[in-house]
Order: sequence, then C-alpha cells, then structure tokens
Amino acid sequence: MRPFTYERVTDARAAVAAASRPGAKFISGGTNLLDLMKLEIERPAHLVDISRLPLGTIEELPDGGVRIGAQTANSDVAADARVRTAYPVLSEALVAGAPGQLRNMASVGGNLLQRTRCPYFYYTDSGCNKRDPGSGCDAIGGFNRTHAILGASDACIATHPSDMAVAMTALEARIELLDADGSVRTVAIGDFYRLPGDTPHIETVLRPGEMITGVVLPPPPPGGQLYRKIRDRASYEFALVSVAVVVSTDAGTGADRGTATDGDTVADARVAFGGVAHKPWRSLAAEDSLRERPATMATYRAAAEAAMRDAVGQGGNDFKIELARRTLCRTLDEAARASRAG
Ligand code: SF4
Repeated sequence: MRPFTYERVTDARAAVAAASRPGAKFISGGTNLLDLMKLEIERPAHLVDISRLPLGTIEELPDGGVRIGAQTANSDVAADARVRTAYPVLSEALVAGAPGQLRNMASVGGNLLQRTRCPYFYYTDSGCNKRDPGSGCDAIGGFNRTHAILGASDACIATHPSDMAVAMTALEARIELLDADGSVRTVAIGDFYRLPGDTPHIETVLRPGEMITGVVLPPPPPGGQLYRKIRDRASYEFALVSVAVVVSTDAGTGADRGTATDGDTVADARVAFGGVAHKPWRSLAAEDSLRERPATMATYRAAAEAAMRDAVGQGGNDFKIELARRTLCRTLDEAARASRAG
C-alpha cells in the first residue's frame, strides 16, 4: 500500500473542503476501498474519513417518504422498522447484499459507490480499461461468467455489484449531493450511474470532491415488493442476476382469492435488475408490457422477453439471459401474490 495522509472530519462542509486537496478521497466503512488500496488500484494521497459525520439517521419526511443519511450503516437500514414495513424490497436487498459483519461497517454512501468485482479489475497484470484507461479489456474473450448482458461496450463489460442500489432504483430514490463549493443538488438514481461507453473508469455523475449526503425515498409505491438474488453460493457472493420488483394489481371479479392471481390485472409495475449491466438496470420495456395486462405467467414471460430483447452474451455469461427472464417471472408472480394478499 502506498503512503497517504489521513484526517477525520466531523462536519460535512469541512469534508468537501478537505476533499479538494489533490489526490484526496473519502473513506467511510472502507469495505471496498481498503482492498483496492492494498492492491494499489486506488492510490489516494489523502484520505478524508467521513464515517463520523452526523449523517447516520433515517428520517420520515412530511410527504410520507424517508431520508436515509449517507453514513447510516447498511445493517441499520435493513433492520429499520419503517424500511422493513414500507420498503421491504430495500431491506431484502441489503440482507442479500452482504453478511452481517460487512453490513455493520458499510455505509449507504459507500455501498452506492463500490467498484465492480470484475476479476480482471483486481488482477493488476491484466488489461482493464476501468483500472488503466486504454489498456484494453481482458474480460472480452476471457472469463466473463459474471459480466454484463445489457448496456456493455467494446471498452468494458463489467457489472455494478450493489444489491441496495437495485432496490433503490425500483423505488425511484434520489441521491443528495454536496459539492465542494457548498452547493447541494439531488440526482435521480437512474441518472446517477453511467454506462461504460469509451470511459468505463467514470462510473457516476459525481463531480470532483462532491459527496453523497443522503438518499431520499419517495412515498412507498402501492403493491407488493420483492428482491430476488441468484448467485453461485448463498453468502459472500455477488449476484449473477438479481431482480427488484414492485407490483400492484387490481382484483378481478370471481378470482379464487388467496390461492392465485387468476382474474387480476397488473395495475402498475417497476422492474430493476442487478448483475446484468454497468449500472442498476431499470427495464421500462418490461414495465410497459405489464401494465393493464392479466396477472398471469404469460404476461410475466412477455415482460421478461421485453426486458431481455437487447441482451447480448459474451460467451461465458450467455446463460444469464435466460436466468434473468426466469428470475423476473418468478419474482413478479410472488410479488403479485403479495400485492393481492396486502
Ligand atoms: Fe476492466 Fe471492465 Fe474489462 Fe473488467 S470488464 S476487465 S472492469 S474494462
């Protein structure tokens, strides 16, 4: 690890001021950054420790939404009674995202900004445009079982690793940012992450020195919410495919209530995938194909086809396309049943 200087700040404006130093970087839980520093993939000259900022609370908002401070531990968000009741998809995603030790250390802001787990990104002898722009992408034509099937480019086929961000995408979260000049802005999570294009090393729309201060969840959408994560093992593993859905249904007359959704209609739906793209992947095509359609497996299958219409495999990850379709169908069916039960 290369030498660096360190300071701990207790005030948000002092934090962004400190981050204006050349080579400065924020650190909170350090669950990803420290590994990257040991490998010298990240080489900050100065660390600004923001873990003690007073940004660790969850507040109810007058409109019925919730604001989660950026320094709130993932475990605290997952366990919060308001989150579990009104935003269960978020709680489920956090629990699926990491074991307890990591959830206790990891902050919400850090979770949003964690880097890809593409193995070539961490193997510093390989070509990787994200780590070393212009050095190529050894995942293309290499071991790419875990890589993207949507939104990839010739420069990078990595996926975003966060589960939490996928649920937040389905919940249409907004991210609060504090700039180095003291100005504040909020960005919809759907606009926060970038696709790789020719610049995969630039992953978000964050400006230099800008800091995440919180995440605002709009009032909970009606219907059932569900997060499903498919991975190679049950713990300490990232998603091959994950799905966050919110589904509301209108009950059909004469339906056999309580045992099936026969006769019900999908009133509204939100669909976001993880493990398939460089960013949490909202599928508006799937949502459009669900609205006002019968809540049946045939409808879910059509939505899955729509969601994966532009999917492209890289050889080792071709299986993900069908896995994503099947995961979406199952998750929609379960969420629709939860919607009717609610
Ligand atoms: Fe690097 Fe992206 Fe290629 Fe992985 S997929 S080797 S992160 S450029």
